[in-house]
Amino acid sequence: MRGGLDKKPGRGLGKAMIVRTVFLSAVCGVVAFVVLAARLYEVQISSNGHYEALALDAQLRRTTLTATRGTIFDANGKILAMSAAVENVFISPFEIKRDGQDAAAIADGLSAILGVPRESILEKTVNEASQYQVIKQKVESYEADQVRELIKEGGLSGIHLEPASRRYYPNGNLASQIIGFVGTDNIGLDGLERRCDGYLTGVNGRNVRLQNARGADLMFAGFEDHYDAQDGNNITLTIDSTIQYFVEKHLEQAIIDYNVQNGAMCIAMNAKTGAILAMANHPNFDPNDFQKLSESEMERLSLIEDEEEYAKEFRSAQLRQWRNRSLADTYEPGSVFKILTLAMALEENVASTESSFDCAGRMDIKGRDEEKPVHCWRRWGHGRQSLNQAMENSCNLACVELGLRLGARSFYKYVDAFGLREKTGLDSSAEVRGLWWNDSVFFARNNQSQLASATFGQTFTVTPIQMITAVAAAVNGGYLMEPYIIKQVSDSEGNIIEATEPTVRRQAISAGTSATVRSILRNVVENGTGTNAQIRGYSIGGKTGTSENTVEIATKEENAAKNYIVSFLGFAPADDPEIVVLLLLDTPSHRNSVYISGGSMAAPVVGNMLADILPLCLGIMPEYTDEDLKDINVDMPKLMGKSVEEAQEQLWTLGFETTVIGDGDTVTGQCPSPNAYIASGASVKLYAGVEEPIRAPVSVPQLSGMKYSAAKQALENRGLFIRTAGAPKSNSKVVVSVQSIPAGQETMYGSVVEVTLIDQDVIELRN
Ligand SMILES: [Zn+2]
Repeated sequence: MRGGLDKKPGRGLGKAMIVRTVFLSAVCGVVAFVVLAARLYEVQISSNGHYEALALDAQLRRTTLTATRGTIFDANGKILAMSAAVENVFISPFEIKRDGQDAAAIADGLSAILGVPRESILEKTVNEASQYQVIKQKVESYEADQVRELIKEGGLSGIHLEPASRRYYPNGNLASQIIGFVGTDNIGLDGLERRCDGYLTGVNGRNVRLQNARGADLMFAGFEDHYDAQDGNNITLTIDSTIQYFVEKHLEQAIIDYNVQNGAMCIAMNAKTGAILAMANHPNFDPNDFQKLSESEMERLSLIEDEEEYAKEFRSAQLRQWRNRSLADTYEPGSVFKILTLAMALEENVASTESSFDCAGRMDIKGRDEEKPVHCWRRWGHGRQSLNQAMENSCNLACVELGLRLGARSFYKYVDAFGLREKTGLDSSAEVRGLWWNDSVFFARNNQSQLASATFGQTFTVTPIQMITAVAAAVNGGYLMEPYIIKQVSDSEGNIIEATEPTVRRQAISAGTSATVRSILRNVVENGTGTNAQIRGYSIGGKTGTSENTVEIATKEENAAKNYIVSFLGFAPADDPEIVVLLLLDTPSHRNSVYISGGSMAAPVVGNMLADILPLCLGIMPEYTDEDLKDINVDMPKLMGKSVEEAQEQLWTLGFETTVIGDGDTVTGQCPSPNAYIASGASVKLYAGVEEPIRAPVSVPQLSGMKYSAAKQALENRGLFIRTAGAPKSNSKVVVSVQSIPAGQETMYGSVVEVTLIDQDVIELRN
């Protein structure tokens, strides 16, 4: 279905290649035509005597040989999009008439197999001069076989099948906005399918034969023109589908946990090269059925009675699910931007790690009404702080101070050095630019109001891809990379045609400044507002952000009082970053005593993502300190068959406590079961006798807001076990923010409930 989709000019990537391919296909077409015309000339004019009589009842029969559209692979060679052979069913009304076939019988037979209305088939038989009327495209082999059976059984003529191809997306919704989709004609309509259409399409071949009136080939030498189809090129992306999977999994969970109203975005990037490892937006869609909306959207739309209104809402919901907001939407970055203000100030030597700042909660700014001073997010101020503490506290006024020392011109110089007023080049036709104050306004000497707000990420907008690219530069040694998503293009035989090399756009800051930024951001996660992104065994750097949402909310629910975008940018390992992740949750809801803030909502989600991605996808294994070991989750060993003594010994070594039920010598049962992944310190039940572990459902208690020890006890009282994510459980200030099984739901005795712990201090922070 191509109807209604906006036509855009060819996407930026490899425009030259697309032009080349289009040119090539045009050339093939021209050559084919010239050859054919020459032969026809030969047939009709030069050798007229010989052919004239035959040509009268001869028919030219053309068959298109469909080129197979190229495959899209992820970075590890897993298939993201592929084409498979199918068939088109068509009829020749000419033959039906000529052979005196029963049109009604043909219509009945085809209708029954293909599910096409009988009347529409009958209508197509009317045009008796036609040799080609398509009944159904892209028929799977089981249907095609039935059609062949029909032809054979009924001794029918005039029904034909031709090879075609169909696009499949084996992973469904995964990376859907990146991949995009194709229309019924296999032309890319969105995402990379559209942008790389020139690479993927290939060139159709053709077969032209001259047939006599009875449909038999006229076997004159040279009377068959045959051009093989040239299959499309294959594309390999930088996307790692496992990383993409983890990012999408945690994004979906965050939407539920924080009742996020207006979607979410997440980008994971290789910090050094700019290669995109994952890019996800919610809502998304299944490219195999791209018109379809999610169940929750359909539910929402079902409340609309007016037909016109429904159609309009349906359309806008479709556009929303297809939209790659990471490139196409802008937002106020808020406090995540403070990373760049810090980098600028260090690079220009207007501050150092020795500097200190005073925050009184408010500050008068030149050009602003005295009644309207600039405020710190903490209205009563942060007092005296070192540069490190100012970043840990995410203090607005320390950033204003840095900005004033830099001056507006210098500030903008770095905004440009970090690429924030230009497109990143990832996809220039889909990317947008944000809004910035004109130089004349921003540079005004008597008005520093704009500069002041800009230092903490307000009054301008950027795209998520611009923001993550800029911060990657701030922590990777200073290099602003050109983000890219296409690793290479290869032909159908596997020869590499093009490969993307990482491209440095410019060096924004020195390697030394970048190292200082990294160490300060590591402190933000270890001691500051980013503490909920901590994962045991890893060093993470990062910065939180909370900004008011300027975009109109999609679903107007009464409990979504204030519209915020909360965000977190994290990178790891902190001293030599391999991966940077930027997460944005658009309009989460205040729930379960968790305040709406990047520190309490976005930071733990990024922590959970990195906990999966670092060991499983990047091969970076945790290194535990003694302190960490108190905090980790452990795999429960299999103890059945061991002596009670031996089992107890093993559990104690792992940091568990034990309760033995029964007086036998051998372990006959255990709770939790082997391989359960639970927090160390749990009390494991060992059965040694006639009694067996309980098998009964129990109700999960409400854990939100509880301290770790209380939550653990509440679960164990009911025969359940705890596993933790988020802030260290050894920290006395942590409480449970979300639980994997909702309160009140029943689960089996011995089950494990995962809780995300967050630092209570951070809960109070609106930053
Ligand atoms: Zn402050």
